[in-house]
Amino acid sequence: MLKKFIGYYKPQKKLFFADMLCALVVAVCDLFYPMITRSIIQDYVPNKNLRLIIVWASVLLGIYLLKAGLNYFIQYYGHVMGVRIQAHMRKDVFTHLQKLPFAYFDENKTGVIMSRILNDLMEVTELAHHGPEDLFISLIMLLGSFIILCGINVPLTLIVFALLPVGVFLVAKLRTRMNHAFRVTREKTGEVNAELENSISGIRVAKAFTNKEGEIRKFEHRNREFVEARSDAYKVMGQFSASTNFFTDALNFTVLIAAACFLFAGAITVGDFVAYLLYVSMFLNPIRRLLAFVEQFQEGITGFKRFCEIMDQPEERDDPGAVPMGDEEARGDIAFEGVRFSYDNNTQILRDIDLHIGSGKTLALVGPSGGGKTTLCHLLPRFYELDDGSIQIGGRDIRQYTRHSLREHIGIVQQDIFLFTGTIRDNIAYGRLGATDEEIVEAAKRANLHDFILSLDDGYDTYVGERGVRLSGGQKQRISIARVFLKNPPILILDEATSALDNATEHLIQESLAELSQGRTTLVVAHRLSTIKNADEIVVLTPEGIAEQGNHHRLLEQGGIYAELYNSQFAE
Ligand code: ADP
Ligand code: MG
Repeated sequence: MLKKFIGYYKPQKKLFFADMLCALVVAVCDLFYPMITRSIIQDYVPNKNLRLIIVWASVLLGIYLLKAGLNYFIQYYGHVMGVRIQAHMRKDVFTHLQKLPFAYFDENKTGVIMSRILNDLMEVTELAHHGPEDLFISLIMLLGSFIILCGINVPLTLIVFALLPVGVFLVAKLRTRMNHAFRVTREKTGEVNAELENSISGIRVAKAFTNKEGEIRKFEHRNREFVEARSDAYKVMGQFSASTNFFTDALNFTVLIAAACFLFAGAITVGDFVAYLLYVSMFLNPIRRLLAFVEQFQEGITGFKRFCEIMDQPEERDDPGAVPMGDEEARGDIAFEGVRFSYDNNTQILRDIDLHIGSGKTLALVGPSGGGKTTLCHLLPRFYELDDGSIQIGGRDIRQYTRHSLREHIGIVQQDIFLFTGTIRDNIAYGRLGATDEEIVEAAKRANLHDFILSLDDGYDTYVGERGVRLSGGQKQRISIARVFLKNPPILILDEATSALDNATEHLIQESLAELSQGRTTLVVAHRLSTIKNADEIVVLTPEGIAEQGNHHRLLEQGGIYAELYNSQFAE
């Protein structure tokens, strides 16, 4: 997995090495300052060597300017590298999601998938960008100062470095507590957000049931929990900052006393003394960085693991030897033979379904809700895999066609209509990307939608808000019908395409649908039986399987489920 992670650095190789080089130079620059100060104090000042003092002061100034430039580079390009890596991963996961089967989206909630793509990858980016830099800089700082100080005086250096583990322990301990506190805070923030979203989405229900007080109380509760969690976090934060400050002070103090003793004993010079104090005051920074790295590594790798979990989901693949479906084949007969299907290998939804739809004919599915009508419709474009049996189009098993070509030849008006954020034009054009404006208008006309669209202020450019909130169910349905008109496929699936419509609109749409199914092989599911009376074949599907089959008149004569359903609707 680490290999995969490192793989994402490859396209950013140049930036990465430039970033590391800058980090190296910055760390080395920082190591210079105490050494220069030491030389000035112990050599140049006693020798009154003004020239060297000026030279080294200028060098120092130069180093600071260089550092400023490098820090700019690290900040700017380091983040750019991080965000590029993130974009690369996001693109990969998005592309992969597009290829995952329906079943994946049945099992995983949209919110969870989103949080994986957004939040988890955010943590991965943090690691990708800061990780190597933090590790590198802090190791060089600690190692560099250790070597330099050992060069001055080994026993004193060992005393100083013996204290470091205490600091590491302290920072590590408090950081864990701080992380825990902030994790709780994040959860509470999420809960407040969820409460807010839930309450605003449901405001109409709340008003209708005059539940204002209840809503406010629920929100207050969450809000209070949020404040408490935050307060806890700030408490730990206060402890963290107070103790790390105290540790630095204690370290400085110890070094001051110890170095003073060494100085007094003549083991080190005044310059060495100052150098020790300066190096030690810099120590806490690399320790913090090192611990930040450990933590970032944990969080980042966890995030990356979750990213890999999605990437490892098997995508929909064409069967070996699959060929593109031709127009001729798509116009052929459709046959279901001994089809068995279950979503979870447990509950049989469809058992031994045999159906035949002649080329250009219409087959209607009716039956109780939950009987498996929608499921059956979803099997034709191969949204799910069969447990047993086969489905043929044009005399060939659908598994012998590429999925892409199979779906290209099928138009579906689904039960749940989804509109993308964008204009009405965009949404109709989704039926066939690249369609001309004339074609889009033509499709809208055929879906009986054109006049309605023109009555809107912005016409075809009317923006369809979040999930088309501003349109009625019937209007949305007609947009989805227009989409299919535009796609113009030889095979048509209408799954309760008119269920969201009132009687008058349904009548209008019925004409468009009748026109749409002209010359196309059609599978239609209808709740209102008046709409499918003229179907060539009607199949009554129940959870037990196909109960009745025949045309309208035959089924009425038969006096079974269909006749009963029809009579009860007719009586209404
Ligand atoms: P119908 O369209 O006839 O009302 P469906 O095909 O929607 O029936 O549903 C048939 C059965 O399959 C129902 O029991 C339903 O709960 C179940 N079902 C539908 N979709 C899924 C799914 N994505 N995952 C698991 N079970 C499902
Ligand atoms: Mg259904």
